[in-house]
Amino acid sequence: MNTSIGHRIDADIVLGGNRFLPIFNPATGDVINQAPAADSEIVNAAVRSAERAFVSWSETSALKRARVFFKFKSLLEANIDELALIITTEHGKVLSDAKGEIMRGLEVVEFACGIPQLLKGQHSDNIGGGIDNWSLRQPIGVCAGITPFNFPAMVPMWMFPMAIACGNTFILKPSERDPSASLFMAQLLDDAGLPPGVLNIVTGDREAVGEILAHPSIAAVSFVGSTPIAEHIYKTCASHGKRVQALGGAKNHLVVMPDANLDQAADGLVGAGYGSAGERCMAISVAVAVGDTADALVDKLIQRIGKLKVGDGTDPAAQMGPLITAEHRLRVLDYVEAGIDSGAKLVVDGRNLHVTSRPNGFFVGPCLFDHVTPNMSIYKEEIFGPVLSVVRVENFQDAIELVNSHEYGNGVACYTSDGGTAREFSRRIRAGMVGINVPIPVPMAFHSFGGWKRSLFGDQHIYGEEGVRFYTRYKSIMQRWPDNNVTRGMEFNMPTHK
Ligand code: NAD
Repeated sequence: MNTSIGHRIDADIVLGGNRFLPIFNPATGDVINQAPAADSEIVNAAVRSAERAFVSWSETSALKRARVFFKFKSLLEANIDELALIITTEHGKVLSDAKGEIMRGLEVVEFACGIPQLLKGQHSDNIGGGIDNWSLRQPIGVCAGITPFNFPAMVPMWMFPMAIACGNTFILKPSERDPSASLFMAQLLDDAGLPPGVLNIVTGDREAVGEILAHPSIAAVSFVGSTPIAEHIYKTCASHGKRVQALGGAKNHLVVMPDANLDQAADGLVGAGYGSAGERCMAISVAVAVGDTADALVDKLIQRIGKLKVGDGTDPAAQMGPLITAEHRLRVLDYVEAGIDSGAKLVVDGRNLHVTSRPNGFFVGPCLFDHVTPNMSIYKEEIFGPVLSVVRVENFQDAIELVNSHEYGNGVACYTSDGGTAREFSRRIRAGMVGINVPIPVPMAFHSFGGWKRSLFGDQHIYGEEGVRFYTRYKSIMQRWPDNNVTRGMEFNMPTHK
């Protein structure tokens, strides 16, 4: 076991904290590394370093800050194979999917390269009495990000490029399951010319998070992870007076209308349901079959699932890899058991899948339930595994009500060939990201990502212009240059436009 993983403070790797956390290769089941768990001393050191770096970084022009990201972008492109392998080794997803997440993160880096344009203020000339009024956005200080295991490169890149390009310094606490992608990207940023201390990384778990949330010098926290933790982060940050955005879990529906192209809908469902073993916050976990579509749709799903190849993510033939840990695998299997017990029909059973070359990997094969009803735990709760449920409803109205009644509102999709249905669906559905004949509608970097209801706690979505707003403070300035020929005298009224 090597211990090259550590906290990254002032561009140095340091060990610290009183525990080490194991990192697995989920495909083999082996412990392949360990990460030190940051304690208060380490978090304090990271914050002090970030505070020091903020002094000059916030004074560095937006143009120069953008240039660091231009270089980072080309280094990321040059090193994409190595980074993808790091992701697959610690997370398990197939290499092509790992590259896909890097590319989606890279789009945010590209957006951050436009920061001089994004930070342009607004100016109103001569609003009265020789006064001009203008507004600008300034960085807020030391920001922190806490990220989940399932996108070890993309989700950190939703945060640090925007925060840093806006002139802040940033402390990242990646998931304890797969921190190496973050450490690798920090090294690339170092090579791109980012000054020490602008991006620090602390590895660890809830202890490190607790220290971050309570630290008086951290101005803002971005969180992505499960809903119970997101809610805890939101409340704790608010009680400490911090700005916070906390993105949580999901239960994403894909509504299949009778006029939909069923082959396209089935393709969309299998890719979005089982890609990355269902461990995506935008995974589709519920197919809502409207009218008489269900029987034909389920047949098409069964055919496609039968051909799905599950294996080690480094195997080019594999389309789906293992789950993240042995414990999570058991949790997913418990859900399948609960689905059977509650009366749903398990039409594809992936529980006994064996990957012969990887007998100890954390694999579960794709599972498909039919006749799922809204009272079942497999419908209500986020399973975060390769389990797709089919719910049958009579009509479009019932489909909308079903989706809108769910506690989560992250992504949603509707397959239809009718423009009016598509329009009504988009307008009435209560979710943050909507796909029409698009199963995973993750917004581009120049839009913003975020859910509704219990999928997001906070006011702002992440990245895009919402990201600029989150990582900056708005300031309005009124200015009058003295004209010695004019005597205005004292004014006791509320100043009004004259
Ligand atoms: P998680 O909530 O267990 O962990 C996320 C982060 O919180 C990690 O860094 C972890 O160390 C930390 N953490 C865990 N328990 C904590 C505690 N008790 N106190 C303080 N910090 C704690 O999530 P995960 O299992 O890593 O990721 C999967 C979840 O993330 C799923 O629910 C998924 O839907 C969600 N997710 C959401 C989005 C989104 O954009 N909405 C994106 C990706 C993942």
